[in-house]
Amino acid sequence: MPPSMHDAPATSGNGNGNATAANTSPAFLDTTPGPDHDWKVSLKGKVIGITGGNRGIGLALAQVCLANDAEAIYSLDIFEPGEEFATLQKAHPKRLYYVHCDVTSEESVNSAIDAVIAAQGAIHGFIANAGMTKHQPAFDFSRAQIEQLFNLNVFGAYFCATTVARRFIDLGIKGSIVFTASMTSYRPNRAAPSAPYGATKGAVRNMTHTLAMEWAKHGIRVNSVSPGFIKTAMTYFVDQAPDWDLKMQYYGGMPRLADPKELGGAYVYLLSDGASYTTGIDIPVAG
Ligand code: NDP
Repeated sequence: MPPSMHDAPATSGNGNGNATAANTSPAFLDTTPGPDHDWKVSLKGKVIGITGGNRGIGLALAQVCLANDAEAIYSLDIFEPGEEFATLQKAHPKRLYYVHCDVTSEESVNSAIDAVIAAQGAIHGFIANAGMTKHQPAFDFSRAQIEQLFNLNVFGAYFCATTVARRFIDLGIKGSIVFTASMTSYRPNRAAPSAPYGATKGAVRNMTHTLAMEWAKHGIRVNSVSPGFIKTAMTYFVDQAPDWDLKMQYYGGMPRLADPKELGGAYVYLLSDGASYTTGIDIPVAG
């Protein structure tokens, strides 16, 4: 019989921050909601890192997390943030921050996550969101182009997840990791095909299941969200195609691109303690 969640040894952390270092990892960290569990779906008191949070989906997720009472959001991004980020930061004094991070460098990921912990004393949630695409016919891809996609979308997400999971364990925190996968992990994007991009997102969605299984004993939950057509810099051209209206006529769902904030509810749920028994799943958000 696997170790029971109910007879897990006590830890030195409370699983939600203010943790003291728990170097003796428990066999199974108890994830059963306690008597004072807050049943409201909320991010109250949580510190969350978002890769690629300077703009697009990442910035929109920051906004929705802040609207749902997150204590502090950190964008871990490769370049200095722009005006859009500054506007949101101004609206939420001392709750939205930027830390430089290149997710393709393990060293950079390590120091960015350590900077968040040094500033806040804890980290509770992490969205591995930074990613890129390249749309062109399969015959036209060079090996270097495919490697670039995998390096950012798969290796970057993988090393972010393993790094933050190690910190959750050290701090005794029942953390939540959410990957941004994609509907292209299920089926082709007919509007703009990219076989290698779909393959990277298939990999991301797939590793969610195994990481969730491996880290359940540490109280760490791992899930993913698969967005459909979301209006960002990545998709600026999609609804300008001459056959867009016709495509949407046969789409079978909501015939429009989404505002990136429309993804936020799924992430907030997965990051919240309301999802204490939710791990290893993907939530498609695709109209
Ligand atoms: P954007 O290009 O608008 O934003 C991506 C962000 O990630 C940018 O701020 C970018 O910085 C940053 N970034 C790029 N490389 C790195 C790196 N090495 N380290 C840290 N940050 C980096 O994309 P979206 O917001 O549209 O996409 C976000 C995620 O959502 C991606 O994983 C994407 O694959 C996924 N997705 C998007 C969909 C859509 O319709 N838009 C649909 C399904 C999934 P900079 O650009 O300044 O280099």
